[in-house]
Amino acid sequence: MAKSYLKKLPGKLKDLTNKRFGRLVVIRYLGKRMWECVCDCGVTKPVFASNLKRGAPSCGCYRREWIGNRRRIHGFFGARVYHIWDAMIQRCRNPKFRFYYNYGGRGIYVCQEWLRFTGFLAWVMLSFPDGNVPEHLSLDRYPDNDGPYSPDNCRWATRKEQGNNTRANRLWTYQGKTQSITQWAREYGKKPSKVSQRINSGWSIHKALTTP
Ligand SMILES: [Zn+2]
Repeated sequence: MAKSYLKKLPGKLKDLTNKRFGRLVVIRYLGKRMWECVCDCGVTKPVFASNLKRGAPSCGCYRREWIGNRRRIHGFFGARVYHIWDAMIQRCRNPKFRFYYNYGGRGIYVCQEWLRFTGFLAWVMLSFPDGNVPEHLSLDRYPDNDGPYSPDNCRWATRKEQGNNTRANRLWTYQGKTQSITQWAREYGKKPSKVSQRINSGWSIHKALTTP
């Protein structure tokens, strides 16, 4: 079928028939640098050759979906999940924040993908597909209370669970010396996350540091 259209092509024009550009597949040349294309969504539409090679070619459905997504994300501004994200960013990245010293000030950071709200939202939606975090749950760094806000060190916890976790968050005195669980763990050649986990499940500092 391509052959009959080929004849109509002006000398220098490259034949794009049957070629795919993003969601568009070219059907035939219409003249004046316009190509008739069919989109994956089923719409047939004339498209300028220059537009076939730009951005994410589609009949316009790609852009409509993109705007739809933006609106959907925008719908979360002001929602609980947005406040949770914002508070996390403030605690770790805003030195003027009241409790910064207890977060960013002591080396707790937010992982790269969660610096953007959409990155965090994607993770939240694994647990809550509609993006609504239940009132009784809050974001908890676990197992390592000295570790970052990241997918492998965070969970949703009740107030009680989070309270237990803070056992590892305070300073511990052992054999006449007082320091953080992270410092203790390093001194004893142990993983801080492991020792925190033990402390949080009620182990003594002695047992947490000396048990293999
Ligand atoms: Zn389309």
